[in-house]
Formats: sequence, C-alpha cells, structure tokens
Amino acid sequence: MELLKRRILTEGRVEGKDVVKVDSFLNHQMDVVLLNEIGKEFQSRFVNQTVTKILTIEASGIGVACITAQYFNVPVVFAKKMESRNLDKEVFESKVTSYTKGIEYGIKVSKRYLGPEDHVLIIDDFLANGQAIAGLRNIVKQAGAHLTGVGIVIEKSFQNGGKVIRDEGIHLESLAIIKEIENNKIIFKEEGRE
Ligand code: 5GP
Repeated sequence: MELLKRRILTEGRVEGKDVVKVDSFLNHQMDVVLLNEIGKEFQSRFVNQTVTKILTIEASGIGVACITAQYFNVPVVFAKKMESRNLDKEVFESKVTSYTKGIEYGIKVSKRYLGPEDHVLIIDDFLANGQAIAGLRNIVKQAGAHLTGVGIVIEKSFQNGGKVIRDEGIHLESLAIIKEIENNKIIFKEEGRE
C-alpha cells in the first residue's frame, strides 16, 4: 500500500535495531484519514470472504480494527490484557510475550463474544515474531470459531512471525512489509516478490 509506505518513510523512526515507531499516525496520534484507507484496503484484500467478527488486542490494534470493521459491517472484539473485575468469569484465555516490553502477559476474551458460528478476521498494527497473533489464534481455536485470515498494517519480514503464519496456510495480508532495516533506513519488500 503505497500511501502507507510513504508515511512510514517520511515519519517512521527506527529505535534500537528493529523497532519502528510510527507514533505520529498509527500508535499514539492517529491519522483517521489514513486509517480509513487502511480499512478499505483490508476490505479489498478479504473481499468475498466471510467475516462475522474482527478480533484484535488492546491497545494499539483497536483503532485500526474499529475503522476496518466499518467496511465489513461487523463488531470488533478486543482481547483484554489485564485482569478486569467487570469481565465475565467465562473467558477464553491465552498468553503472549510482549515484543516491545519482553514480558509475558495474559489475554482474555469473554465467551459471550466469540463462538463456533464466527468467522474471524484478526487485525493488528505490527507483526514481528508472531506472539500476539499466536495468542489471538489460540483464543479463536478455543472458541471453535473459523479463522478467515490475518490483516497486519506493518509486517517486519526479517522477523519470523509472517513466515510461520503463511507456512500454516493462513491467509495473511500485510499492507507494508519491511524486509530490512539498514543503518536506520527502512527497506520495503517489493510487492509480488519473495
Ligand atoms: P509479535 O507478537 O509479532 O512479536 O509483535 C507484535 C506486537 O508487538 C504488536 O502488537 C505491536 O504492538 C508490537 N510491535 C512489534 N514490533 C513493533 C515495532 O517495530 N514497532 C511498534 N510500534 N510495535 C511493535
């Protein structure tokens, strides 16, 4: 998605060796006009596929998931990261190791909002080693729901999350794929090329 790649090149910052900060339009301040284009792009990439729920993880997946959901006309369910007294006791649970913080945390989704009748599109902002998506997939599996696919805004293909998901035959669509970061410079994978 050219519009997105241009924004990453002009506003993205590299932190350390492999963390890309896009706080000016995606992860802190949010450019809703761009998010709208992202939502449309996801819709076109999963067109003619059944989607009854969009599943994401708090907090940074929620904005993009909500705008995308408008194009599919379905609800968004977000996995909650922390113990919440208001949540049902009847929950699906999984564990995720945070890429950016390095700690393990639990995620939960109420059994009320996901079930065997659902066709789920998982949406997240970044894909690195695939831990967040693995946790969400685990919840889809516990619910007995069908996984329609996974939509990612920015994949870093030099980390192996994307390969694992594709090798399993899951329909994964990443709107911008960073193949490497060299001397703080972001280099994208050309579309249609391995
Ligand atoms: P994974 O679970 O695939 O290893 O990492 C994905 C999660 O970690 C995403 O939900 C995202 O919040 C965070 N993440 C991974 N890499 C980056 C990055 O380069 N930049 C930002 N801002 N977040 C990242």
